[in-house]
Amino acid sequence: MDLYTRLDHIPVGGETILGSPIWTSPGGKGANQAAAAARLGADVRFVGRVGDDEYGQRLRQGLLDAGADVSLLRTGDSPSSVALILLTPDGENSIIVSPSSNQHVSPADVDAAWQPGQPAVGAVVCQLEIPLATVVHASELAQQHGARFVLNAAPAQELPADLVGRADPLVVNESEAEFLLGTTSEAPSHTPETLVRGLLELGSRSVVLTLGGDGAAVGVNGGGFRHVTGFPVPVVDTTGAGDAFVAALVTRLVAGEDLFEAADYANVVGALVVQHEGAQASYPDAAEVEAQIA
Ligand code: ADP
Repeated sequence: MDLYTRLDHIPVGGETILGSPIWTSPGGKGANQAAAAARLGADVRFVGRVGDDEYGQRLRQGLLDAGADVSLLRTGDSPSSVALILLTPDGENSIIVSPSSNQHVSPADVDAAWQPGQPAVGAVVCQLEIPLATVVHASELAQQHGARFVLNAAPAQELPADLVGRADPLVVNESEAEFLLGTTSEAPSHTPETLVRGLLELGSRSVVLTLGGDGAAVGVNGGGFRHVTGFPVPVVDTTGAGDAFVAALVTRLVAGEDLFEAADYANVVGALVVQHEGAQASYPDAAEVEAQIA
């Protein structure tokens, strides 16, 4: 659950300040991506954990409302994970994440998706807000069962090479790409193409680099590179745009499109989402996207 408050400035040690009334909005990268994909018509099952609390109920309901299957969403012993988002006038937002229930998403939770009677899995999509061991296990299961493995390596952290090697694609934004490559935006070689090629050299089968208002860059190992140009749109709130992009990308990949076609579609969805307030509340359905493309 995302908790927002507006402040004049970030308090320093020993300081007490007043913030605006707190407002809440269902969030989390995995839940956002599951909700966005379900809204777009994908058949989504969400593996995760929430607490036995009010936030847990609202998070579950948010996924249900979007059309996702929550039969593998467990209600655990620890409280629902929370992100406290401090909004300051300079736009330099600060975020405190309390992982709680997310830290308990286990390899066994992922196994449940392949128990007898469960429907076939076309793709497994992971983010890095749950334990890395669980993500690695999910990637191994995807490989064993012939499902596509998509890794949104966010928030950025060090990754084992075999995990990167299963990613098809690895999806990152610019700062996550810089983290993985140990480079900075000041480096003379810093272009979307050099970043994508650098990430491919880490071993992933394909890479999608999201570039905010500049769209995205796509590279396939041994299969070329393309810059998908961003749409000039009036931006209201970019929260959750990256998650909607990943969701749209996977929805189209599972439907049989290639990575370049899927990235074109995801770029339309990303541009739609930034024109509305909020994350899950701003996600379009397939008809809205088609109307935009037409
Ligand atoms: P993240 O939120 O993960 O940092 P980005 O900011 O790169 O991700 O945005 C994800 C996608 O959302 C972009 O690839 C693009 O399709 C769309 N998008 C983001 N910001 C804008 C913008 N200002 N104008 C148009 N599209 C945008």
